[in-house]
This record gives sequence, C-alpha cells and structure tokens, in this order.
Amino acid sequence: MPSIAVLPGDGIGHEVLAEGLRVLAAVAPDLTYEHFDLGAERYLRDGTTMPDDVLERFRSEFDCVYLGALGDPRVPSNVHAKDILLGSRFKLDLYINFRPIRLLDARYCPLKDKRPEDVDFVVFRENTEGLYTGIGGQFKRGTPDEIAIEQEINTRKGVERIIRAAFEWAAANGKTKLCMSDKANAMRHGHDLWQRAFKEVAAESPGITTSHLYVDVLTMRMVQAPESFEVIVTNNLFGDIVTDLGAALQGGIGLASSGNINPGVAALFEPVHGSAPDIAGKGIANPLAAILTAGMMLAHLGRAKDERRIQNAVQACLLEGLVTRELGGTLTTRDAGTAVLDALR
Ligand code: ATP
Repeated sequence: MPSIAVLPGDGIGHEVLAEGLRVLAAVAPDLTYEHFDLGAERYLRDGTTMPDDVLERFRSEFDCVYLGALGDPRVPSNVHAKDILLGSRFKLDLYINFRPIRLLDARYCPLKDKRPEDVDFVVFRENTEGLYTGIGGQFKRGTPDEIAIEQEINTRKGVERIIRAAFEWAAANGKTKLCMSDKANAMRHGHDLWQRAFKEVAAESPGITTSHLYVDVLTMRMVQAPESFEVIVTNNLFGDIVTDLGAALQGGIGLASSGNINPGVAALFEPVHGSAPDIAGKGIANPLAAILTAGMMLAHLGRAKDERRIQNAVQACLLEGLVTRELGGTLTTRDAGTAVLDALR
C-alpha cells in the first residue's frame, strides 16, 4: 500500500490539497496518508521549520510527499519555506524537477491557433546544482568598487544523471524526441560539460532523436512551435525560466504541477503556484493544479492510467467552464473539486 506524507503548508495550500486528497480517495482508495504540521503556523508557534527526523522519515517510510504551498507574510524571510523546500530538495537529493507542460483546453493557451496536442511536452530541470547552490560572495559590498560573484556548479555526476533521467523517461513513455538546452556558446566550461555528457548518453539511446538548442533559441521555439518538443532537459536556472514559460503556454500557474524526484529514494510533488496570501481562506483558489499534481504522483507510483483518468476529468471541467474565478468561472475551490469528482464518475 503506497504511503503519502501530506504537507498542506501555508495559505491556499490547505484548500487546494483538500481537493486533491478527495480526488485521490476516489481514484486510489488504497493509499495511506500521514499529515505533517509544518509551515508558517508551526514556525510561529515553536520555531520548528524542518526537523531532520521528518526528512529521514520522508526517505525511509513514504513513497511520496504531497505538498500544498509554502510562504506567509508573517514570516518575512520565509525561512520556514526555505528550510522545508530546499531542505527536502538538497538533503533528499531530489535532483529531478519534472514539469509536464500540457495544454488541456485551447482557450487557455495564449498562443494563436494552438491545440492541446500542440502543447504537450515535459521539462527535466536539474534541481540540485547550477546557479542555485549559493556559492559565491561579495567583496566591498555597498561601495562603488563592489564585486559580487555567483558560481555555477556543474558536476559530471549531476549533469549526467539528469540527462540520463530524461532519456529513461522518454524511452519508458514512448517519446522519441529529446532536446537539451544550454548556453555553451557563452558559458564555455560548465556547458561544455553538458554537451559532452549529452552526446555520450545520447549515443546509448539509439531510438531517440536528439537535438540541441541554446536557451535563447529554445524560448523562441517554445512560443513559435511548441509542437516540436516532447522532452526537454536543461540546467537549474534555465529550467526555472522555461518551465514558467511552459506554465503560461498551458494556461497559467493554476494548472501547473511539478515533481521533485530522486528515483528509488524519495519524491515530492507540489502545484507550481505559491500560497497566494491575497486569496487564502476565501475558498476561491483554483484546486486544479493540486489535483493534476495528485495525478502525477499516481503516475510516479506506476499508475499512469489513473493519472490519465484525472487529466481527462480536469479537461472535461475546463471544457465545460466548471472552474474557479481566475479561469473565468464562478466555482469555489470546493465546488471545483466536486466538479472533478463528478467528471470522474
Ligand atoms: P510564492 O511567492 O510562494 O510563489 P505568491 O502568492 O506570491 O507565492 P503565486 O502563488 O505564484 O505567488 O501567486 C501569484 C498570484 O496568482 C497570487 O496573487 C494569486 O492571487 C494567484 N494564484 C496563485 N495560485 C492560485 C490558485 N491556485 N488559484 C487562484 N489564484 C492563484
């Protein structure tokens, strides 16, 4: 029986996860859950952010972590969010950031004449190194002679394993096109490593047609011809940027889901949106990203059919306009969850 650690977190995290859990109960009634009281409330109460023993339990006792959202204006530094998210990412070495970009209803795509089958690809973003390790420093800070250095870390192990993960996912999911994106023409050392690792892993995967695009060209191509992509793999910074562009192509953050994965070790799934303090507690948050995230989690557990059922139900709701306000509908969070449950039936 797969076990799920549930972390509603802050703000609308609670509201949207409640709907995701209702959908999971309907589609996969055999899952077991444990709720964790971590987030801004807990931090403000007793200073706890992310205890080491909880991280160890995520690794050893649970198949997945299902996270709502983190961030609260009462914690200006959002230290709790950093400890929980970055703590999990780095200490559990969740090196794959997996972001499906899938348009479910053409009306929500900002591009002209694009159909759902034109916007349907996944991005593998490297999640543990690159420009996000905090290595660097400042010298003569605040003076006219100030120097600020931010180091980009690319290890052979880190680069190769994310590239390999993208190829393995492509092969396992019947995809034949894989594009690696970097900026090797300007970043000659680190991205040269990406180029060499990519060529070597590609040589082991003859069934897959590979391509390479500099990231500036990738962003243009994603807008001009999203249909040319099936799988994209890239580094941490570029992945951050192109997945948000991808989220816009699929209809905005209310529909975007993500997974942070270390295969065979641990996986954390979360909707892409934040805690949205401006609408928290009002019952109007869109739960569809959290519901689609629940589907991703099921696919990760080997239940791709259940994910498709959830996607189809969400798609049916979008097509019928059974959605919350920010997508142009009138439903509350709860009613939008109920609409998905009805569509599942
Ligand atoms: P963070 O800084 O953690 O990303 P945030 O609230 O500043 O959090 P987002 O969560 O990305 O940033 O939200 C940006 C805006 O989009 C919010 O002001 C909110 O009103 C809206 N929003 C985000 N998620 C949803 C949602 N699920 N349903 C409806 N509106 C949303």
